[in-house]
Amino acid sequence: MPHTLLSSTQYKKFVSERDKALEQIHQHAQMDISHLTSESLKSIEGLVATLATRHEISVSGMHYLTSQVEFHTTQILSKLFSQLVSRVKRMRKAVFTLTYTSELEAVARATGQKISTPPSFAQKLKAAEEAPTLRDESLEKRVWYSLMKLRAKVVQALNLALVQELSPSEVLAKVVQVFPQVQSYKRPPRELKPFREADTKRDKEIYDFAFIDDADWKLAVDAYKDTELPPSRFDNAPSFDNEAGYQRYNWEVEQELTDDFVHQVRDGQVEAARDAGIQEFVWVAILDDRTDDCCQDRNGHTTSEIEAMLDSGDLDGDSCDAVTPPAHPNCRCQLAPVASTEQVEGPDWKSFNEWLES
Ligand SMILES: [Zn+2]
Repeated sequence: MPHTLLSSTQYKKFVSERDKALEQIHQHAQMDISHLTSESLKSIEGLVATLATRHEISVSGMHYLTSQVEFHTTQILSKLFSQLVSRVKRMRKAVFTLTYTSELEAVARATGQKISTPPSFAQKLKAAEEAPTLRDESLEKRVWYSLMKLRAKVVQALNLALVQELSPSEVLAKVVQVFPQVQSYKRPPRELKPFREADTKRDKEIYDFAFIDDADWKLAVDAYKDTELPPSRFDNAPSFDNEAGYQRYNWEVEQELTDDFVHQVRDGQVEAARDAGIQEFVWVAILDDRTDDCCQDRNGHTTSEIEAMLDSGDLDGDSCDAVTPPAHPNCRCQLAPVASTEQVEGPDWKSFNEWLES
């Protein structure tokens, strides 16, 4: 394997702390999205409870009820749509900003080479915000599609319950059954110190990051510190115990959020390392029984080796054409920048949090 920056213990420590901080940003976004979803589901439940109040209604009654439920559900989900999309975009901005800046700093420390001014950060940030999803589809369309699938399920469950002439409370129960279900997760042990004060200074050890807009930097730091939505807003929502663990809905919107997060982290890392003069990366897969062929075959190879293997047909580009991770949803692979110079193991690297707070 070529000499990579991951063989520098300080680089490795810095980026692994950074990755934990990024995971916090992801979790905060995910919690906000769960709360927003929960609010909308409550509204749909309330809507059905208000409309479906009679036993044994006629076909024309079913027709009327269906059109009412469709109309109001679309309104509720349109509002949720805008909230979800803007929340995902803010997560993308925060993730890209922190990944990019910290990778630039880490590479500069590990290689002793500082580039003058990173080119066009604002443009990169805009591109990250507007990026297609991992499946190369529009974020907006994916979210809308998921919401319309939910609406279809609600209408179908409602109509079936009406055909079966169930009681109003049974009709409601049938509708609620098709909602995405909440799953609880144990909170992973907290390895980072709680982040202290808002830090708007960007005068870091190596770079001053003056190329980043104040508001964008604040957004990134705030995204790490906490969720965005005030808890008071959800007094009537089911309680999400943030200390004991966290909860998420088991549906595609939240699964795709995770894939989107990983995609942004890897993109930010590649962009920064390339800007800092790194041309090559080694693909590092976690090898266990869950690793698929696509990642296993790329493990240990450099970017240019993977490109050559794709060209020669040694790797099947039709089943997977990724040159850098993630290769697919749920991909856990990492990237190791290949060192272009002998490493400079600086004696006193600050930890990631100290760097962020400095
Ligand atoms: Zn993978």
